[in-house]
Amino acid sequence: MSSPNGFDVIVAGGGPAGATTATLLAQRGHSVLLIERSSEPQEKVGESLMPATYWTLERLGMLDKMRASAFPEKGSVQFYAPDGRSTTPFYFKEVDPHESSHTWQVLRSEFDQMLLDNAAEQGVEVRRGTSLREVIFDADRAIGARLRSDGEEIDLACRVLVDATGQSHFLSSKRGLRKIETRLKHMSYFTRYRGAERGEGIDEGATVILHTENGKSWFWYIPLPDDQVSVGVVGPVDYLVKGRASDPEQVFLEELERCAALRKKLIGAERIKPIRATRDFSYHSTQAAGDGWVLVGDAFGFIDPIYSSGVFLALKSGELAADAIHEALAAGDISRVALSSFEPELRAGVKALRKLVYAFYDPDFHFAKFLQQHPDCRGQLIDLLMGNVFRKPVDELMAALDQWVTLPEQTVEAGGRAG
Ligand SMILES: Cc1cc2nc3c(=O)[nH]c(=O)nc-3n(C[C@H](O)[C@H](O)[C@H](O)COP(=O)(O)OP(=O)(O)OC[C@H]3O[C@@H](n4cnc5c(N)ncnc54)[C@H](O)[C@@H]3O)c2cc1C
Repeated sequence: MSSPNGFDVIVAGGGPAGATTATLLAQRGHSVLLIERSSEPQEKVGESLMPATYWTLERLGMLDKMRASAFPEKGSVQFYAPDGRSTTPFYFKEVDPHESSHTWQVLRSEFDQMLLDNAAEQGVEVRRGTSLREVIFDADRAIGARLRSDGEEIDLACRVLVDATGQSHFLSSKRGLRKIETRLKHMSYFTRYRGAERGEGIDEGATVILHTENGKSWFWYIPLPDDQVSVGVVGPVDYLVKGRASDPEQVFLEELERCAALRKKLIGAERIKPIRATRDFSYHSTQAAGDGWVLVGDAFGFIDPIYSSGVFLALKSGELAADAIHEALAAGDISRVALSSFEPELRAGVKALRKLVYAFYDPDFHFAKFLQQHPDCRGQLIDLLMGNVFRKPVDELMAALDQWVTLPEQTVEAGGRAG
C-alpha cells in the first residue's frame, strides 16, 4: 500500500535486481512500487545461474517455485582450451553436497516473470508498461520519479529511488558515474538450437565454455528446457567487428568454424532463433548510492559473462541494498553514507570474480596449468565458480592468482599505466 503522498521506495526495472530489492523491502513492511518498461515478459541473455543464487532465492521464497519448474539443473561447468582439450567438469558438489551446490539454467522470460509474480504476492505494487523518465531531485537528494505509462506522465514521491534499469544504467549514465573496463570491451553473437548433444545425469544441465582454435573468442553452451540449448560467442569488439562482415550470422558461423568441439555437439541440431548481437562491455559505477538513491544489478555494474555471474550479482546486490535501505529507512537517515553501507561488501565480492575474469583472458592462463601449480586451490576455485564470494573466504586463490593477473587498478598503483 502506498503512503498518502507516494511510496517508501520506487524501484525502476523489473529484472532480477529490481524484483529482489523490491520483494525484500516489502517483506519488511515498506510500501514499494516496482515499474517495468516492457509490457510483456522479454527474452534475455543471462540464462545460466550460479549456485550461490540459492541463498537469495531462499530469502525471496522462490526455492519451491524453482524446484517445481522445468528449468534444467546445473551441477557443473567445464572449459575447453583452444586445442580442444577439456578440463574435467568442476562439479559444485565437490566442495559441498548441500542442495545449494546445484542451480538452474533458466528461460529469462519465465524466470523474471516468476520473480515479479513473487514480488506482487509479497506486497509489491508491480506496474508493467511503465518507464522511468526522470528522477526528481531536491538539490542533490532524490525525492521522486517521473513515470510514463500509456502516453501519460505522472510524478510520484518516494523516500528512496532504486535504479535497477540494467544496461540502460539510467542514473549512472545521467550523472556520469560509469567507468568502462577498457580491457574487457567485448561483444557477443548468440542464438538457440534444438536437438543438440546433451549430457546425462548430473551432466545434463552443465554449462560448457569452449575456446575457439585461435584463442580469440569463446562460446557458451547452456542447456535449456524443451531440448533447447543457448549458444553464444564472445570476443573483443576489435576482433569480432573490425574488418568483419556486418551480418551477425556470418560472424557467428565464421567463429563456429573455429570451434570443432562445439560443432560436434551441434551435429543433427536445428537452429531455432536468428543470430542476435549485443555489446557486453564490463563497467561499474563509481558510486552505488547517493542521497535518496541506490543502484543495483547491471545498473551498478557488469562483469564479463564468462562465469555467468550477472544474475547472481543482480540478486546479491538487490539483497545487500534492500538490507541497507531498510536500515536507513528505519533510522530515518537516507543519506548517501547510510544508503551505501552495502557498497564495500559488494565491491569485495565483485573484485574476486573480476580477478578470475582477467585470468581467463590472459593467454598464458589455463585452468589445468593453474591447478597443476596450485592443487590446493581447487576447492576455492570451485567456490568462486559457484559464486561463493560473499559467504566463504577465497584468499588463497586470490593470492595464487596474483602471480597470473594484474587488475587495471593495480597497474595504475604500480606505475600509472591504466589498463
Ligand atoms: C552476452 C551476455 C551473456 C550473459 N550471460 C549470462 C549468464 O549466462 N548468466 C548470468 O547470470 N548472467 C549473464 N549475463 C548477465 C545478465 O544478463 C545480467 O547481468 C542480468 O540480467 C542483470 O539483471 P538486472 O536486473 O540488473 O538487469 P535486467 O535483467 O537487464 O533488468 C533490467 C530491467 O529494467 C527495465 N528497464 C530499463 N530501463 C527502464 C526504465 N527507464 N524504466 C523502467 N524499466 C526499465 C528493462 O526492461 C529490464 O527488464 C549475460 C550478459 C551478456 C551481455
